[in-house]
Amino acid sequence: MSAPTLPAKPANAVYVTQPLLPPLEEFIPYLEKIWDNKILTNTGPFHHELEQALCDYLGVKHICLFTNGTLALITALQALRITGEVITTPYSFVATAHSLVWNGIRPVFVDIDPLTFNMDADKIEAAITPQTTAIMPVHCYGRPCDVESIQRIADNYGLKIIYDAAHAFGVRHNGTSVLNHGDLSVLSFHATKVFTTFEGGAIVCPDAKTKQRIDHLKNFGIVGETSVVAPGINGKMSEINAAFGLLQLKGIDHALQRRQEVDAYYREKLATVQGIECHTPSDDITNHAYFPILVKADFPATRDQLFQYLRDNNIYARRYFYPLISDFPMYRGLASSAPSNLPVARQVADQIICLPQYPALTFEQIDMITGFIAQAAHLGPLLTTAACNK
Ligand SMILES: *Cc1c(COP(=O)(O)O)cnc(C)c1O
Repeated sequence: MSAPTLPAKPANAVYVTQPLLPPLEEFIPYLEKIWDNKILTNTGPFHHELEQALCDYLGVKHICLFTNGTLALITALQALRITGEVITTPYSFVATAHSLVWNGIRPVFVDIDPLTFNMDADKIEAAITPQTTAIMPVHCYGRPCDVESIQRIADNYGLKIIYDAAHAFGVRHNGTSVLNHGDLSVLSFHATKVFTTFEGGAIVCPDAKTKQRIDHLKNFGIVGETSVVAPGINGKMSEINAAFGLLQLKGIDHALQRRQEVDAYYREKLATVQGIECHTPSDDITNHAYFPILVKADFPATRDQLFQYLRDNNIYARRYFYPLISDFPMYRGLASSAPSNLPVARQVADQIICLPQYPALTFEQIDMITGFIAQAAHLGPLLTTAACNK
Protein backbone atom coordinates (compact mmCIF):
# COMPACT_ATOMS: atom_id res chain seq x y z
CA MET A 1 0.00 0.00 0.00
CA SER A 2 1.40 3.40 -0.90
CA ALA A 3 1.46 6.19 1.63
CA PRO A 4 -1.40 8.67 1.38
CA THR A 5 -0.28 12.20 0.51
CA LEU A 6 0.58 13.85 3.78
CA PRO A 7 -1.40 17.02 4.35
CA ALA A 8 0.49 20.06 5.60
CA LYS A 9 0.24 20.73 9.34
CA PRO A 10 -2.11 23.72 9.78
CA ALA A 11 -0.43 26.92 10.96
CA ASN A 12 -3.31 27.66 13.31
CA ALA A 13 -4.75 25.09 15.66
CA VAL A 14 -8.10 23.60 14.65
CA TYR A 15 -10.27 23.08 17.72
CA VAL A 16 -13.23 20.80 18.21
CA THR A 17 -15.48 23.83 17.99
CA GLN A 18 -15.43 27.54 17.24
CA PRO A 19 -18.15 29.93 18.37
CA LEU A 20 -20.40 31.69 15.91
CA LEU A 21 -19.47 35.37 16.31
CA PRO A 22 -21.37 37.87 14.15
CA PRO A 23 -19.46 41.02 13.06
CA LEU A 24 -18.68 43.09 16.18
CA GLU A 25 -20.37 46.20 14.81
CA GLU A 26 -23.69 44.35 14.80
CA PHE A 27 -23.45 43.98 18.57
CA ILE A 28 -22.78 47.68 19.26
CA PRO A 29 -26.42 48.85 18.93
CA TYR A 30 -27.43 46.33 21.61
CA LEU A 31 -24.75 47.69 23.94
CA GLU A 32 -25.90 51.26 23.25
CA LYS A 33 -29.40 50.31 24.35
CA ILE A 34 -28.06 48.86 27.59
CA TRP A 35 -25.97 52.00 28.20
CA ASP A 36 -29.06 54.14 27.53
CA ASN A 37 -31.53 52.36 29.81
CA LYS A 38 -28.92 51.33 32.41
CA ILE A 39 -30.62 48.01 33.08
CA LEU A 40 -27.88 45.39 33.40
CA THR A 41 -29.73 42.42 34.87
CA ASN A 42 -32.78 41.31 36.94
CA THR A 43 -34.90 40.22 33.97
CA GLY A 44 -34.61 43.38 31.90
CA PRO A 45 -35.95 44.05 28.39
CA PHE A 46 -33.41 41.88 26.49
CA HIS A 47 -34.06 39.02 28.92
CA HIS A 48 -37.80 39.18 28.17
CA GLU A 49 -37.21 39.53 24.44
CA LEU A 50 -34.87 36.53 24.29
CA GLU A 51 -37.26 34.33 26.26
CA GLN A 52 -40.03 35.13 23.79
CA ALA A 53 -37.79 34.76 20.73
CA LEU A 54 -36.54 31.37 21.92
CA CYS A 55 -40.07 30.11 22.63
CA ASP A 56 -41.04 31.06 19.07
CA TYR A 57 -37.88 29.68 17.45
CA LEU A 58 -37.80 26.41 19.38
CA GLY A 59 -41.56 25.81 19.41
CA VAL A 60 -41.93 25.55 23.20
CA LYS A 61 -44.39 27.18 25.62
CA HIS A 62 -42.21 28.65 28.38
CA ILE A 63 -38.52 29.30 28.90
CA CYS A 64 -36.59 30.51 31.96
CA LEU A 65 -33.16 31.89 31.11
CA PHE A 66 -30.20 31.12 33.36
CA THR A 67 -26.59 32.12 33.98
CA ASN A 68 -25.45 28.72 32.74
CA GLY A 69 -26.75 25.22 32.10
CA THR A 70 -25.45 23.73 35.34
CA LEU A 71 -27.37 26.19 37.54
CA ALA A 72 -30.41 25.49 35.36
CA LEU A 73 -30.05 21.73 36.02
CA ILE A 74 -29.61 22.31 39.77
CA THR A 75 -32.65 24.59 39.85
CA ALA A 76 -34.80 22.22 37.74
CA LEU A 77 -34.24 19.53 40.39
CA GLN A 78 -35.17 22.03 43.14
CA ALA A 79 -38.27 23.15 41.28
CA LEU A 80 -39.65 19.60 41.19
CA ARG A 81 -38.42 18.86 44.73
CA ILE A 82 -36.47 15.82 43.56
CA THR A 83 -34.78 13.80 46.35
CA GLY A 84 -33.33 10.34 47.00
CA GLU A 85 -32.05 8.64 43.85
CA VAL A 86 -32.15 9.73 40.20
CA ILE A 87 -31.45 7.41 37.28
CA THR A 88 -29.03 8.92 34.78
CA THR A 89 -26.33 8.15 32.23
CA PRO A 90 -22.56 7.87 32.78
CA TYR A 91 -21.96 8.92 29.16
CA SER A 92 -22.25 12.70 29.46
CA PHE A 93 -20.49 15.82 30.65
CA VAL A 94 -19.87 15.75 34.44
CA ALA A 95 -22.37 18.55 35.12
CA THR A 96 -25.23 16.06 34.62
CA ALA A 97 -24.29 14.05 37.72
CA HIS A 98 -22.83 17.02 39.63
CA SER A 99 -26.24 18.76 39.53
CA LEU A 100 -27.69 15.77 41.39
CA VAL A 101 -24.97 15.74 44.04
CA TRP A 102 -25.42 19.51 44.62
CA ASN A 103 -29.01 18.62 45.57
CA GLY A 104 -27.96 15.80 47.90
CA ILE A 105 -29.29 13.25 45.39
CA ARG A 106 -27.55 9.95 44.61
CA PRO A 107 -27.01 9.34 40.89
CA VAL A 108 -27.75 5.81 39.69
CA PHE A 109 -26.07 5.06 36.38
CA VAL A 110 -27.59 2.84 33.70
CA ASP A 111 -25.85 1.71 30.54
CA ILE A 112 -26.30 3.31 27.12
CA ASP A 113 -27.71 2.05 23.84
CA PRO A 114 -24.92 0.99 21.44
CA LEU A 115 -26.57 2.74 18.48
CA THR A 116 -27.65 6.10 19.92
CA PHE A 117 -25.27 6.40 22.94
CA ASN A 118 -28.33 7.57 24.92
CA MET A 119 -29.56 5.92 28.11
CA ASP A 120 -30.82 2.42 27.29
CA ALA A 121 -34.52 2.63 28.17
CA ASP A 122 -34.67 -1.17 28.58
CA LYS A 123 -32.24 -0.95 31.50
CA ILE A 124 -34.10 1.72 33.51
CA GLU A 125 -36.63 -0.48 35.31
CA ALA A 126 -33.97 -2.71 36.86
CA ALA A 127 -32.34 0.38 38.41
CA ILE A 128 -35.51 1.64 40.15
CA THR A 129 -35.61 1.38 43.97
CA PRO A 130 -38.02 2.78 46.60
CA GLN A 131 -35.73 5.86 46.73
CA THR A 132 -35.99 6.65 43.01
CA THR A 133 -37.86 9.87 42.32
CA ALA A 134 -36.79 10.87 38.81
CA ILE A 135 -34.94 10.06 35.60
CA MET A 136 -32.36 12.44 34.11
CA PRO A 137 -31.52 11.32 30.55
CA VAL A 138 -29.28 13.24 28.12
CA HIS A 139 -30.01 13.73 24.40
CA CYS A 140 -26.40 12.88 23.64
CA TYR A 141 -24.90 14.82 20.68
CA GLY A 142 -28.40 16.24 20.11
CA ARG A 143 -29.87 12.89 19.22
CA PRO A 144 -33.30 12.37 20.83
CA CYS A 145 -33.63 9.78 23.58
CA ASP A 146 -36.26 7.07 23.40
CA VAL A 147 -38.71 9.60 24.83
CA GLU A 148 -41.83 7.41 24.53
CA SER A 149 -40.38 4.45 26.44
CA ILE A 150 -38.90 6.69 29.12
CA GLN A 151 -42.26 8.45 29.59
CA ARG A 152 -44.06 5.10 29.87
CA ILE A 153 -41.70 3.94 32.62
CA ALA A 154 -41.95 7.26 34.46
CA ASP A 155 -45.75 7.10 34.33
CA ASN A 156 -45.84 3.51 35.59
CA TYR A 157 -43.58 4.23 38.56
CA GLY A 158 -44.65 7.80 39.31
CA LEU A 159 -41.27 9.33 38.44
CA LYS A 160 -40.42 12.79 37.10
CA ILE A 161 -38.25 13.27 34.01
CA ILE A 162 -35.74 16.09 33.63
CA TYR A 163 -33.92 15.99 30.31
CA ASP A 164 -30.39 17.32 30.16
CA ALA A 165 -30.92 18.80 26.70
CA ALA A 166 -27.64 20.74 26.68
CA HIS A 167 -26.84 19.33 23.21
CA ALA A 168 -30.34 19.48 21.78
CA PHE A 169 -30.89 23.10 20.73
CA GLY A 170 -33.30 23.22 17.80
CA VAL A 171 -33.77 19.46 17.55
CA ARG A 172 -37.22 18.41 16.38
CA HIS A 173 -38.65 14.92 16.59
CA ASN A 174 -41.98 13.57 15.30
CA GLY A 175 -43.09 17.07 14.35
CA THR A 176 -42.39 18.76 17.67
CA SER A 177 -39.42 20.16 19.58
CA VAL A 178 -37.64 17.40 21.48
CA LEU A 179 -37.62 19.90 24.37
CA ASN A 180 -41.35 19.33 24.88
CA HIS A 181 -40.80 15.87 26.36
CA GLY A 182 -40.56 15.05 30.05
CA ASP A 183 -41.41 17.41 32.90
CA LEU A 184 -38.56 19.84 32.24
CA SER A 185 -35.72 20.17 29.71
CA VAL A 186 -32.49 22.02 30.36
CA LEU A 187 -30.41 23.79 27.71
CA SER A 188 -26.84 25.10 27.85
CA PHE A 189 -25.73 28.18 25.92
CA HIS A 190 -22.06 27.77 26.82
CA ALA A 191 -19.50 29.03 24.31
CA THR A 192 -18.96 25.48 22.99
CA LYS A 193 -22.62 24.83 22.23
CA VAL A 194 -24.58 25.22 18.96
CA PHE A 195 -26.36 28.33 20.25
CA THR A 196 -24.34 30.45 22.67
CA THR A 197 -24.71 33.49 24.91
CA PHE A 198 -21.03 33.18 26.03
CA GLU A 199 -22.26 31.52 29.25
CA GLY A 200 -25.93 30.76 29.63
CA GLY A 201 -28.64 28.18 29.92
CA ALA A 202 -32.39 27.72 30.19
CA ILE A 203 -35.15 25.55 31.53
CA VAL A 204 -38.00 24.71 29.16
CA CYS A 205 -41.22 24.15 31.06
CA PRO A 206 -44.76 23.30 30.00
CA ASP A 207 -46.91 25.67 32.09
CA ALA A 208 -46.94 29.20 33.49
CA LYS A 209 -47.12 28.05 37.12
CA THR A 210 -43.91 26.05 36.85
CA LYS A 211 -42.23 28.93 35.06
CA GLN A 212 -43.21 31.24 37.89
CA ARG A 213 -41.76 28.88 40.51
CA ILE A 214 -38.51 28.58 38.56
CA ASP A 215 -38.33 32.35 38.05
CA HIS A 216 -38.62 32.77 41.83
CA LEU A 217 -35.98 30.13 42.49
CA LYS A 218 -33.47 31.72 40.13
CA ASN A 219 -33.87 35.08 41.93
CA PHE A 220 -33.23 34.08 45.58
CA GLY A 221 -36.88 33.02 46.06
CA ILE A 222 -37.90 36.68 46.10
CA VAL A 223 -41.50 37.42 45.11
CA GLY A 224 -41.84 40.97 46.43
CA GLU A 225 -40.01 43.68 48.29
CA THR A 226 -40.57 42.02 51.66
CA SER A 227 -41.40 38.46 50.66
CA VAL A 228 -39.08 35.49 50.11
CA VAL A 229 -40.84 32.16 49.48
CA ALA A 230 -38.01 29.69 48.92
CA PRO A 231 -34.26 29.31 49.50
CA GLY A 232 -33.50 30.33 45.93
CA ILE A 233 -30.24 30.91 44.13
CA ASN A 234 -28.94 33.66 41.86
CA GLY A 235 -29.24 32.12 38.40
CA LYS A 236 -30.40 35.08 36.33
CA MET A 237 -29.02 35.73 32.84
CA SER A 238 -27.60 39.26 32.46
CA GLU A 239 -28.76 41.73 29.82
CA ILE A 240 -25.48 41.55 27.92
CA ASN A 241 -25.76 37.77 27.52
CA ALA A 242 -29.44 38.01 26.55
CA ALA A 243 -28.65 40.70 23.97
CA PHE A 244 -25.96 38.52 22.44
CA GLY A 245 -28.46 35.65 22.32
CA LEU A 246 -30.85 37.77 20.25
CA LEU A 247 -28.08 38.59 17.81
CA GLN A 248 -26.88 34.98 17.69
CA LEU A 249 -30.40 33.76 16.95
CA LYS A 250 -30.44 35.73 13.67
CA GLY A 251 -27.68 33.57 12.22
CA ILE A 252 -28.67 30.23 13.70
CA ASP A 253 -30.49 28.73 10.69
CA HIS A 254 -27.52 29.38 8.45
CA ALA A 255 -25.20 27.93 11.09
CA LEU A 256 -27.26 24.75 11.39
CA GLN A 257 -27.27 24.42 7.60
CA ARG A 258 -23.46 24.73 7.50
CA ARG A 259 -23.13 22.11 10.26
CA GLN A 260 -25.19 19.73 8.17
CA GLU A 261 -22.87 20.25 5.18
CA VAL A 262 -19.82 19.65 7.38
CA ASP A 263 -21.39 16.43 8.65
CA ALA A 264 -22.20 15.18 5.15
CA TYR A 265 -18.71 15.95 3.83
CA TYR A 266 -16.99 14.15 6.74
CA ARG A 267 -19.14 11.07 6.08
CA GLU A 268 -18.21 11.10 2.42
CA LYS A 269 -14.50 11.40 3.19
CA LEU A 270 -14.47 8.77 5.95
CA ALA A 271 -16.71 6.23 4.20
CA THR A 272 -13.75 4.22 2.89
CA VAL A 273 -11.46 4.43 5.94
CA GLN A 274 -11.32 0.99 7.46
CA GLY A 275 -11.94 0.91 11.22
CA ILE A 276 -13.49 4.36 11.47
CA GLU A 277 -17.21 4.31 12.12
CA CYS A 278 -19.24 7.51 11.98
CA HIS A 279 -22.03 7.78 14.53
CA THR A 280 -25.21 6.65 12.81
CA PRO A 281 -26.70 9.47 10.78
CA SER A 282 -30.06 10.78 11.87
CA ASP A 283 -30.31 13.69 9.44
CA ASP A 284 -33.46 15.60 10.21
CA ILE A 285 -33.45 14.86 13.92
CA THR A 286 -30.08 16.17 15.00
CA ASN A 287 -28.50 19.61 14.99
CA HIS A 288 -25.01 18.28 14.12
CA ALA A 289 -23.64 19.73 17.33
CA TYR A 290 -20.76 17.22 17.24
CA PHE A 291 -19.10 14.87 14.78
CA PRO A 292 -18.37 11.71 16.79
CA ILE A 293 -16.45 8.79 15.29
CA LEU A 294 -15.59 5.40 16.76
CA VAL A 295 -12.05 4.06 16.30
CA LYS A 296 -12.77 0.33 16.04
CA ALA A 297 -10.44 -2.60 16.66
CA ASP A 298 -9.70 -2.97 12.92
CA PHE A 299 -8.23 0.56 12.66
CA PRO A 300 -4.43 0.05 12.49
CA ALA A 301 -3.79 2.39 15.47
CA THR A 302 -5.49 2.79 18.83
CA ARG A 303 -7.94 5.58 19.60
CA ASP A 304 -5.40 7.33 21.79
CA GLN A 305 -2.68 7.02 19.14
CA LEU A 306 -4.97 8.65 16.59
CA PHE A 307 -6.04 11.32 19.10
CA GLN A 308 -2.41 12.18 19.90
CA TYR A 309 -1.37 12.16 16.24
CA LEU A 310 -4.09 14.69 15.43
CA ARG A 311 -2.89 16.85 18.36
CA ASP A 312 0.70 16.65 17.17
CA ASN A 313 -0.61 18.09 13.93
CA ASN A 314 -2.46 20.96 15.58
CA ILE A 315 -5.91 19.36 15.36
CA TYR A 316 -7.58 19.42 18.76
CA ALA A 317 -10.30 16.78 18.60
CA ARG A 318 -11.88 15.77 21.93
CA ARG A 319 -12.71 12.46 23.56
CA TYR A 320 -16.32 13.32 24.51
CA PHE A 321 -17.14 11.34 26.70
CA TYR A 322 -14.02 9.75 28.14
CA PRO A 323 -13.59 9.06 31.01
CA LEU A 324 -17.14 8.09 31.92
CA ILE A 325 -18.68 10.18 34.72
CA SER A 326 -18.86 6.98 36.78
CA ASP A 327 -15.04 6.74 36.68
CA PHE A 328 -14.39 10.08 38.40
CA PRO A 329 -13.33 9.79 42.07
CA MET A 330 -16.57 11.18 43.53
CA TYR A 331 -18.67 8.62 41.63
CA ARG A 332 -16.60 5.47 41.24
CA GLY A 333 -17.57 4.09 44.66
CA LEU A 334 -21.27 3.89 43.75
CA ALA A 335 -22.65 0.40 43.17
CA SER A 336 -24.03 1.46 39.78
CA SER A 337 -20.55 2.59 38.66
CA ALA A 338 -19.31 -1.03 38.61
CA PRO A 339 -17.78 -1.78 35.19
CA SER A 340 -20.02 -4.85 34.84
CA ASN A 341 -23.05 -2.51 34.97
CA LEU A 342 -21.83 -0.26 32.13
CA PRO A 343 -20.14 -2.36 29.43
CA VAL A 344 -21.53 -0.48 26.42
CA ALA A 345 -20.71 2.96 27.83
CA ARG A 346 -17.18 1.79 28.60
CA GLN A 347 -16.61 0.44 25.10
CA VAL A 348 -17.91 3.61 23.46
CA ALA A 349 -15.85 5.82 25.83
CA ASP A 350 -12.74 3.86 24.81
CA GLN A 351 -13.38 4.29 21.06
CA ILE A 352 -14.85 7.78 20.76
CA ILE A 353 -13.33 10.90 19.21
CA CYS A 354 -15.31 14.04 18.38
CA LEU A 355 -13.76 15.69 15.33
CA PRO A 356 -13.89 19.47 14.79
CA GLN A 357 -17.44 20.49 13.84
CA TYR A 358 -18.55 24.12 13.53
CA PRO A 359 -20.16 26.37 10.92
CA ALA A 360 -16.91 28.02 9.77
CA LEU A 361 -15.07 24.71 9.21
CA THR A 362 -14.15 24.55 5.50
CA PHE A 363 -14.11 21.54 3.18
CA GLU A 364 -10.34 22.13 2.81
CA GLN A 365 -9.93 21.76 6.57
CA ILE A 366 -12.00 18.57 6.51
CA ASP A 367 -9.79 17.26 3.67
CA MET A 368 -6.79 17.96 5.88
CA ILE A 369 -8.28 16.35 9.03
CA THR A 370 -9.40 13.22 7.20
CA GLY A 371 -6.02 13.19 5.42
CA PHE A 372 -4.27 12.97 8.80
CA ILE A 373 -6.63 10.16 9.83
CA ALA A 374 -5.67 8.24 6.67
CA GLN A 375 -2.01 8.94 7.44
CA ALA A 376 -2.46 7.65 11.00
CA ALA A 377 -3.95 4.46 9.58
CA HIS A 378 -0.88 4.12 7.34
CA LEU A 379 1.57 4.63 10.22
CA GLY A 380 -0.45 2.34 12.49
CA PRO A 381 1.34 1.00 15.56
CA LEU A 382 4.38 3.25 14.91
CA LEU A 383 2.40 6.09 16.47
CA THR A 384 2.93 7.10 20.08
CA THR A 385 0.40 7.81 22.83
CA ALA A 386 2.99 9.34 25.13
CA ALA A 387 1.47 12.74 25.84
CA CYS A 388 -2.19 12.15 25.30
CA ASN A 389 -3.46 12.24 28.87
CA LYS A 390 -1.70 15.49 29.70
C1 LIG B 1 -22.41 21.81 28.46
C2 LIG B 1 -23.16 20.78 29.21
C3 LIG B 1 -23.71 21.02 30.49
C4 LIG B 1 -23.36 22.25 31.31
O1 LIG B 1 -23.70 23.42 30.78
P1 LIG B 1 -22.96 24.79 31.25
O2 LIG B 1 -23.77 25.81 30.55
O3 LIG B 1 -21.55 24.70 30.77
O4 LIG B 1 -23.07 24.87 32.72
C5 LIG B 1 -24.50 20.05 31.07
N1 LIG B 1 -24.71 18.87 30.46
C6 LIG B 1 -24.19 18.58 29.26
C7 LIG B 1 -24.49 17.26 28.64
C8 LIG B 1 -23.37 19.51 28.61
O5 LIG B 1 -22.81 19.19 27.43
